Amino acid sequence: MLMRRIAVMGLLVASGALAQGTDDARVVLVMTDGMRWQEIFRGADASLLVPERYFDKRDVTQLKERYLAATPEERRQKLMPFLWSTIVPQGQLYGDRDAGSDASVTNGFNFSYPGYSETLTGHGDPRVDSNDAKPNPNVTVLEWVNKQPGFQGKVAAFGAWGTISAIVNGERCGCVANSAYAQLDMTPMTDRMKLLNDLKRDSPRVWEDESFDATTFYTAMEYIRTKKPRVVFLSLGETDDWAHAGNYGEYLESAHRADGYMKDLWDQLQSMPEYKGKTTMIFLVDHGRGSAPEEWKSHGQKVPESKYIFMGFMGRGVPPLGLREHVAPVTQSQVAATLAKYLGLDWNAVETQAGLPVTDAVK
Ligand SMILES: [Zn+2]
Repeated sequence: MLMRRIAVMGLLVASGALAQGTDDARVVLVMTDGMRWQEIFRGADASLLVPERYFDKRDVTQLKERYLAATPEERRQKLMPFLWSTIVPQGQLYGDRDAGSDASVTNGFNFSYPGYSETLTGHGDPRVDSNDAKPNPNVTVLEWVNKQPGFQGKVAAFGAWGTISAIVNGERCGCVANSAYAQLDMTPMTDRMKLLNDLKRDSPRVWEDESFDATTFYTAMEYIRTKKPRVVFLSLGETDDWAHAGNYGEYLESAHRADGYMKDLWDQLQSMPEYKGKTTMIFLVDHGRGSAPEEWKSHGQKVPESKYIFMGFMGRGVPPLGLREHVAPVTQSQVAATLAKYLGLDWNAVETQAGLPVTDAVK
């Protein structure tokens, strides 16, 4: 009798632990604007790493040492060491077109606002047809999650690009939406956040509507450390800007920094009891770009191949299937429902136009 009671109690404890886990699940969504699947899976392209295409004054030999190697496997490891040594072995990565895995956007525009909107709502929208900082007419999964029990006031979005605040509809969302050079008010204010605000106000602006990624990243890190939100959207932007400028060297450097930011973020989360073992990380891009030698700088409807993207998943609830090869195509429209599912929520029941969760990416 005693044994049976212990066994039943064990079951109760086990199922209780599971429900508790779902109740306490957290997600960080990281995107780096306009990074190509080609560099993710093949590493740096030697044909683009030549002085005529490299506008920075630094010696190009240093970049070659840092990012070139004999094989695609070695090159991608050099460019994105955290992705390849942690996210892939512990999680999953889609979009390697050299290995029979397609990931793409479905919105038909292949540029930023439609891509972020598709990611966050689960569908394209013909009304979302420009990059103007107009409030998103659609409710994003972030806005909806922020209204669910246990999530109120615990959703935060940080963007290097100023338009990110409009895409998540910061006015209506109720979540934290901080982007570009905007000051972040926080109670209590910390010295570190105050310094970040000062730097945003006082630094020269290479791009009027977009700060450097570092400011955005450290703002997000300080907010996470002090406020411990359950859902974080971190949107980095430099990869797109340097590519548009035709500066392949800075494009590679910003991709490499984005990888380092993901490592620092993941390490910080694993050091905090609120996040350790409870957090899922999602990593993708809003759109791809064209091919070498010229179209890699560009993307959009006139560059059809810029619809191809990549997407990675790691952490709680993600089966460690690694690099996905020869699998069914996945789309950006599946990310919102996948994200919600990690939180124990059903986005498809709310937004009927949304794509379904990526089947293999959720337990
Ligand atoms: Zn973009």
